[in-house]
Amino acid sequence: MKHNTKNYDYLIVGAGPYGSVFAFEAAKRGKRSLIIERRSTIGGNMASHKEHGINVHDFGAHIFHTDNKEVWEYINQFTEFNGYINQVVADYKGERYNLPFNMNTFYQMWGVKTPEEAHEKIITQKESANITGIPKNLEEQAISLIGTDIYSRLIKGYTEKQWGRKAIDLPPFIIRRLPVRFTYDNNYFNHRYQGIPVDGYTPIFEKMYESDLIDVKLNTDFFESKDAYLTEFPKIIYTGMIDQFFDYKFGELEYRSVRFESETFESNNKQGSAVINYTDSETPYTRIMEWRHFDKKADDGYTILTKEYPQDWDKTKEAYYPINDEKNSSLFKKYKKESRKFENILFGGRLGNYQYYDMDQVISLALKAVKKEFGE
Ligand code: FAD
Repeated sequence: MKHNTKNYDYLIVGAGPYGSVFAFEAAKRGKRSLIIERRSTIGGNMASHKEHGINVHDFGAHIFHTDNKEVWEYINQFTEFNGYINQVVADYKGERYNLPFNMNTFYQMWGVKTPEEAHEKIITQKESANITGIPKNLEEQAISLIGTDIYSRLIKGYTEKQWGRKAIDLPPFIIRRLPVRFTYDNNYFNHRYQGIPVDGYTPIFEKMYESDLIDVKLNTDFFESKDAYLTEFPKIIYTGMIDQFFDYKFGELEYRSVRFESETFESNNKQGSAVINYTDSETPYTRIMEWRHFDKKADDGYTILTKEYPQDWDKTKEAYYPINDEKNSSLFKKYKKESRKFENILFGGRLGNYQYYDMDQVISLALKAVKKEFGE
C-alpha cells in the first residue's frame, strides 16, 4: 500500500485546466489531491494577471468558445463571461482585411459585393492555378481551397512564420478545411458560446482550489523527485510532457514555441482591435493583441499591447504547439503504448497526449477521465 504523509489520494502534475478540473471533481467526491506545478503561477497556459485594471493573458490570447453546452455550463460555475466575440483584422503590408475569410474580406480584396461574384472569383483563381490530383503540400491545399490572392496575402506568410517552414514543405493536413463564409460576418468562431471571463482566467483556478481537500505547491518540478512521488502516491495524474516522463528513451517529440513581448502605453486605444494578424513574411511577429479590447474597457488611460513571435522550440523554451507530422505521431504512439504499462498513472492534457486542445476540449476530456476513474 502506497503512503504519503498527508494521505493524498492523487498527485496531480500540472496546475493547468486538465489537472485542476480533475482535482476539483475528486474533492467533490471526498478525495484529497496534491497539485504540483513547476511554474510560479496556476492555470497552466490559461493563466492571466491584472495590470492597470486590464486582464492580460500570460501565454497568448485565450478566447473561450464552444458548442458543448455541458462544458459551457460547467465553466460558468467558476466565473461570469463578458460576451466578447472575437473579430480579427489582418494586415498585409499595410492593407487591412477582415478575418475569417468572408464577404468583407472578398470586398476588400476584389471589390466584389455579392456571394455569387465572390464564388466566381475563387473558382477562376482555383482553375488557373491548375492544381491536379491530391494536394501535395500546404500551398497546393490552400490554393485549391481559396485561390491565389487570399493564399499569397493572408495565408502564406503567416503560416510560414508560425511553423518556421516553407508552405511547400508543410503537410496539407494543417489546413484540411478553411473557414470561408459568403456572408458579411466577422465572428471568428462559429461556436454558439463564446467569451472571456470578466476577471480573467486565474480566478477560475483559485475558485477550483477552495476545497480543503486540494493543496497546491508551485515552483515544484515533478522530475526533481520523480522516484519518491512514484513510491508515495497511489495514483498520479500527469499533464507534463509524455516523452520527458520516459526520459526521452525513444527520442524527443518536437514542438513549436512562441515568445511574447509586451509594452504599456498611456492611451485608451492604440490599435482599435483586440487582435491584428500580420500576414506578410517580413514582419517577425504573427500578431499583436491589445488586451483592453478583450475586456471591452472604455477608459482609464492605459493600454497594454503584446506581440507574439513564433520561434523554434528547445528544452529551454515553453513547448506550445505539438508538431503532429508523421515522424512525431509515430514516436508519440511508442510513448502512448509504454504509458499503458503504468496502471496508476493517467497521462492527460495537451502535453500528456501530445495533442493541441482548445480549453473546452481539455475540460471535456478531464470530466470524462473523472467519470471513468470513479466508475460513473
Ligand atoms: P497546460 O495548460 O499547459 O497545463 C499543464 C501544466 O503542467 C503547465 O502549467 C505546466 O507548467 C505544468 N507542468 C508541465 N510539466 C511539469 C512538471 N514536470 N512538473 C510540474 N508541472 C509541470 N484554447 C482555447 O480554447 N482558446 C484560445 O483562444 C486558445 N488560445 C491559445 C493560445 C496559445 C498561444 C496557446 C499555446 C494555447 C491556446 N489555447 C486556447 C489552448 C489552451 O491553452 C489549452 O487548451 C489548455 O491550456 C490545455 O490545458 P492542459 O491542462 O492540458 O495544459
